[in-house]
Amino acid sequence: MVPPESELPLAMPLREPAAAATTSAPVAIAARTCYRRRPMATTKIKAGSTVDGWCTKCKLVLAHTVEAMVGAKITRVHCNTCGGQHAYRAAAPGAGKSTKARRSTPRKTAEAAQKHNEYEVLLRGRTGDKARPYATSERFAPGELIKHSAFGLGVVIAERDSVKIDVAFPDGPKVLLHGR
Ligand SMILES: [Zn+2]
Repeated sequence: MVPPESELPLAMPLREPAAAATTSAPVAIAARTCYRRRPMATTKIKAGSTVDGWCTKCKLVLAHTVEAMVGAKITRVHCNTCGGQHAYRAAAPGAGKSTKARRSTPRKTAEAAQKHNEYEVLLRGRTGDKARPYATSERFAPGELIKHSAFGLGVVIAERDSVKIDVAFPDGPKVLLHGR
């Protein structure tokens, strides 16, 4: 048995009038918003842009130049430090999990804090008066403190090859020449 149709609407809670009232916002504002709307302002990153990414050769997060993109996704880059071309990777392999776990922290702040923390650890409380002034003609050994005119006080992390050293600075790691 089906009840007569006329009885159905009465049995349903009708709350729609209230909702309708809130959505009927002033027409003038809505029209203006539509007028000012611009075509999809996506990221400004394009081929040739500089982005921070993981260098598979340097094993560091360094500045890279975008070479190819698919839509808004960066695919190929080259490292501004070593010049190596590789697929784009935002962070170190294995760093993904911890990044996701700490989503609430703004990424740049977290990265900067991490870089600074590593630097503090490497510095081990040493100060600039033990640092040697940096010059490409000098040779530096891992653990040594160097004074760089632009980057400040640095700690040599490792000797990459006969002419390059990885150095931690307050703003993050850099690759410098030495023994030239
Ligand atoms: Zn590199």
